[in-house]
This record gives sequence, structure tokens and C-alpha cells, in this order.
Amino acid sequence: MGICHSYTPDGRCVSLLKILLTNFCLYDCQYCVNRRSSDVPRARFTPEEVVTLTMDFYRRNCVSGLFLSSGIIRSADYTMEQLIRVARLLREEHEFRGYIHLKTIPEADPALIEQAGRYADRLSVNIELPTDASLQTLAPEKHIGSIKGAMQTIYTGVQTVLNEPRAPRFAPAGQSTQMIVGADDTDDSTILHSAQSLYGNFKLRRVYYSAFSPIPDSPKSVPLAAPPLMREHRFVPG
Ligand code: SF4
Repeated sequence: MGICHSYTPDGRCVSLLKILLTNFCLYDCQYCVNRRSSDVPRARFTPEEVVTLTMDFYRRNCVSGLFLSSGIIRSADYTMEQLIRVARLLREEHEFRGYIHLKTIPEADPALIEQAGRYADRLSVNIELPTDASLQTLAPEKHIGSIKGAMQTIYTGVQTVLNEPRAPRFAPAGQSTQMIVGADDTDDSTILHSAQSLYGNFKLRRVYYSAFSPIPDSPKSVPLAAPPLMREHRFVPG
């Protein structure tokens, strides 16, 4: 539990400690167990605790790196700063040479995304759903413009390094995204078309699909035809 697998640019499979900085969240995405209206117990790591945990696992050879995400705390910028702090402490104070994948908060200042790329091997921004209409219905606080804007910032950073070898390091393992499938009646060809356009426009390394998985005891007040979903398994503090 809490360890996932990913692939490095040269094709090696690596084990990553996959955790949330916190499962507290200001947003209310209806497919997410950590949404604001969910009654799950909340917990939060400090950046220093995540660093200690990562180094402990890494030194014991249990993981080759960290995959860090977070619910939205206080603001997009503040949350992104906390994620960057973890990566910076690992790289600069602990000389961590392992793999770092940081989930990017779409609404964060592009300057913060650029900073994240200095420390992370891979950055990812979740597209969340295959169509803008699905996003508006199920995650109304998220905006396709912000999501694609963040992808564009990452794309530009990666291209800059490719075109200017002396440019500062930026996410050498590129970017990926995650799309939830099965949340509504979007057909397969629309899903594949959406993925194809992301690969083409932003040169994504991978679109990950996450199956919609109902949570049986979800509150009845959630205004959904289907129950809210567990989007993926991630270790949270507690
Ligand atoms: S998907 Fe992310 S932003 Fe939306 S409620 Fe869950 S943790 Fe918050």
C-alpha cells in the first residue's frame, strides 16, 4: 500500500512512494473521496515529514522515488509551494537522486510550475474527465483553460531544454495526465479522441486512465446520478 510503479525515460520500472501531502481539500469534485463534502477523516503531513518518510524508504531500498500530490489547501499557489518545498528539500538538502513526480495544481502561478520543473523528473496535470461538459458537471471548480494552460507551461519548459541545452533542468521525464473513465456516458471514441489531442498538443508521455469506482456509503446529498467515486488508491497520513 502506498507504493506504485512508474517508468523512467529509459524504460526502467521504478517503485515510487505515492502519497498525498494532505487529503484535506477546498474543492468538491464529485468523483473524489477527498472532496470538501466528504466525511472522511482528514490528515496532513508537513513537507519535512514527507521528506523524512521518503528518505527512510529510499535508504532502505523500498522505493526509488516519490510521487507526491495533494488536496488544495488555502490556495492553488500555497499548495504548489508546499509540494515544491518537499522536492527542493530532497534535492538541495538531502542530495536525493531518486525519481520525483509532482502533481501540478492547474491554477498555480506558471512561475511555480517552472520552479517545480527544476526539481521534479516528471510533472503531471490531471485532465480529470474526457470532455469539458463532464468537467463542468462533476468538477465545477476546475477549469479546462487552467488545466491546459498548466500543460502548456510544462510543454514550453520541456521544449526549451530540448532546444537550448544550456537551459536549466526541467522535468526530463516530461508530463503525463490522468483521465477518469466511466463517470458519465462519454463514448469510447470521444475518450480516445481527447487523449489523442492531448498527446498531440502537449507531447504527453502517458495518459493514465482511472476507472470510476463507486463508494457504497457516500452521502445521499451528493447530486449525482451515480455515487461518487474512489479515483485511485493513495496513502494518506493518519
Ligand atoms: S480531485 Fe483533487 S481537487 Fe478535486 S476534490 Fe479531489 S483532491 Fe480536491
